[in-house]
Amino acid sequence: MLRKDYGFDTLSIHGGTEENNPKNALNPPIFMTSTYIFDDVKDAQDIMNFEKQGYIYTRGNNPTLQLFEKRMAALEEGEEAVAFASGMAAISSVLFSFLSPGDNLIVHKTLYGSSFTVTHKLLPQYHINCKSVDFTQPETVEAAIDKNTKVLYFETPSNPNLAIIDMERIVKIAMAYDVKIIVDNTFATPYFQKPLSFDVDVVVHSATKYICGHGDALGGVAVSKDTEYIQKLKFDYMCEFGGVMSPFNAWLMLRGLKTLGPRMRQHEANAMCIAKFLESHPKIEVVMYPGLASFTGHELARRQMDGFGAIISFEVKGGIEAAKKLVNSVQLAKLAVSLGDCETLIELPAAMTHAGYPKEKLHEFGLTESMVRLSVGIENAKDIIEDLDKALNASGA
Ligand code: PLP
Repeated sequence: MLRKDYGFDTLSIHGGTEENNPKNALNPPIFMTSTYIFDDVKDAQDIMNFEKQGYIYTRGNNPTLQLFEKRMAALEEGEEAVAFASGMAAISSVLFSFLSPGDNLIVHKTLYGSSFTVTHKLLPQYHINCKSVDFTQPETVEAAIDKNTKVLYFETPSNPNLAIIDMERIVKIAMAYDVKIIVDNTFATPYFQKPLSFDVDVVVHSATKYICGHGDALGGVAVSKDTEYIQKLKFDYMCEFGGVMSPFNAWLMLRGLKTLGPRMRQHEANAMCIAKFLESHPKIEVVMYPGLASFTGHELARRQMDGFGAIISFEVKGGIEAAKKLVNSVQLAKLAVSLGDCETLIELPAAMTHAGYPKEKLHEFGLTESMVRLSVGIENAKDIIEDLDKALNASGA
């Protein structure tokens, strides 16, 4: 029996593994099956009525997915989880599960581009309106709540400018108005932050990022302490909208999770060196990294996180042209969207991951066209620094 008080690195390797493996394989088999054979009609009916444990169809349940879900629940200190085909499948399903026509939700002004599009363009088509406010000022959240507000949604740290949002204060407000809180924990991972321990209702992830860790599979996951809610999310939303994770991807996620702790330690150690290097570089205007004492959210990050993660955003002197030259000149770092991979990735959010933001509103939403986002990989820090230094010197700033 697996102990709940095992450490994070132990749980990321063993969490959720309780059933005996009939063939004694060290690694879980991948159940690449769409359907399952019933003994007879009574067997089918008992399983369908939840009177007997069993499997029906992989869109509803699959042993490989179930192991990944249990492991994520253990790591996030939740009770249960639902795996999805992508982070956006998880986010949109969770939002739909709480919202009906006439309701509204309040989101932090800076969100990942597709989350912005879902909340600001898609949900309003179903008469679910979205208000954007600055969650780093919790009183503005409280002021925006009205009788139709059902959900507060944010990322902390936020993508791409790393805003740190005070979960304790937001939870207090949400409880006073009986509003649900959904937190996207993609940047921090459960290694650095456990939003459920602050009593948020649901944690969502793009598992495509650090959880997978190797840039080779898409996935999403939602975790909660509320087992009744997770059953509803799984069978009424994931299963019916159909955004199910492939069993092969669940196996890749389980494989990625085994090294989540060591990877996050290396990502963060590298990020700290690189943030300091950038901060002291004459061609850099400003560095946004929660680990830097100069960063606005630093003290709060120290309190509510166990580490600062490995995403750094910054502005280069010389604006958009210098920023373009920099990202075009790097050799070791790759110009690509996504994050959380072993490789260092660099991009321009306003032109790439956040291209869905209205250009005239970039500043209002805490973005600029020239902002550079760096997902620090786990290569040797000195090589990443050398690469950035050369590219900065070529950027003409
Ligand atoms: N949330 C955050 C913070 C992200 O950065 C991303 C993708 O970059 C997503 C959600 C969406 O995840 P996916 O691409 O797996 O759908």
